[in-house]
Amino acid sequence: MKKYDLMIIGSGPGGLTSAIYAARYNLNFLVIGELEGGAISEAHKICNFPTQNNITGFELTQQMSKHVKELGGEIKSQKVIEIKKINNNFTIKTNKEEYKSKKIILATGRKKQKLNIQGENKFLGKGVSYCATCDAYFFKDKKVAVIGGGNSAITTALLLAEHAKKVYIIYRKDSFSKSDPAWISQLKKEKKIESIFNSEVSEIYGENSVKGIKLKNNKSLELEGIFVEIGYVPDETFSKQLGLKTEKGYIVTDKKQKTSIEGVFAVGDITNNSLKQVITACGEGATAASSTYEKLKLEN
Ligand SMILES: Cc1cc2nc3c(=O)[nH]c(=O)nc-3n(C[C@H](O)[C@H](O)[C@H](O)COP(=O)(O)OP(=O)(O)OC[C@H]3O[C@@H](n4cnc5c(N)ncnc54)[C@H](O)[C@@H]3O)c2cc1C
Repeated sequence: MKKYDLMIIGSGPGGLTSAIYAARYNLNFLVIGELEGGAISEAHKICNFPTQNNITGFELTQQMSKHVKELGGEIKSQKVIEIKKINNNFTIKTNKEEYKSKKIILATGRKKQKLNIQGENKFLGKGVSYCATCDAYFFKDKKVAVIGGGNSAITTALLLAEHAKKVYIIYRKDSFSKSDPAWISQLKKEKKIESIFNSEVSEIYGENSVKGIKLKNNKSLELEGIFVEIGYVPDETFSKQLGLKTEKGYIVTDKKQKTSIEGVFAVGDITNNSLKQVITACGEGATAASSTYEKLKLEN
């Protein structure tokens, strides 16, 4: 079994920044992540990361991964299944290997929330999508709908408008009150997008693929694609396995990114921080690596 001082679970901005700092502290560490780049690799435009006013999420995370590798860090693409604490050490079981580590940083982000309505699972990949960056291209000149009303829903609609013939945004509230004004003003300029407020989808119907949606007011819309952007939920697998203190499912940390269990740090979107963005995940990643280094120094 391979042994490390530090294992970083998650290869999004939080995990990759932890890795950059861990490398510069000369720690014996490994990064394991299912999707290199994490959630931001889905973003087709990032305009708010310092020095970058127009970069794709994919390019930004490619640069972060390259930085880690140039400093000698290793990133393994595996799914972690189980983490156990045994005698002040951690065993980490993935779908391929088992490892031992003195400390761990959890940077596992969050998952997209589902609508949980009829047809959603049946038409997954046949018109239902959770990633416009991945799938927008397949809806060239077609009618599509985005469900949701936050920044993710608006940016998804803007991306889809570059390909589709018509884009509906269906939102259960009466305005985009949670979104950034800059995105709302861009949305208003886009003629292909129609916002439908105070509406909820009750069913997705079709045959071999999506043919339309039913709304709760009994109206229907004929369309070929549905993009679900109604928010996120934390994955509680590891917080439950380790018995970490959580708040609404998000891991509670202190200012040094320590969790309620000694030796476990958490960063980014999986924590109860107030701003779920790349810049915060990176800042917390740096802090967690620094806290780990300080702890290991004291123990050696
Ligand atoms: C479409 C979209 C647009 C966005 N636009 C912006 C923007 O313009 N600006 C901005 O600042 N932020 C934006 N965000 C938010 C930003 O992406 C997140 O805040 C940021 O990615 C959080 O980083 P993280 O490292 O905490 O988690 P994530 O990026 O979610 O990374 C989580 C990592 O953990 C891995 N993982 C999870 N479970 C396991 C497991 N069991 N085993 C192994 N690996 C696992 C994942 O594969 C991934 O590598 C956007 C997000 C989306 C979805």
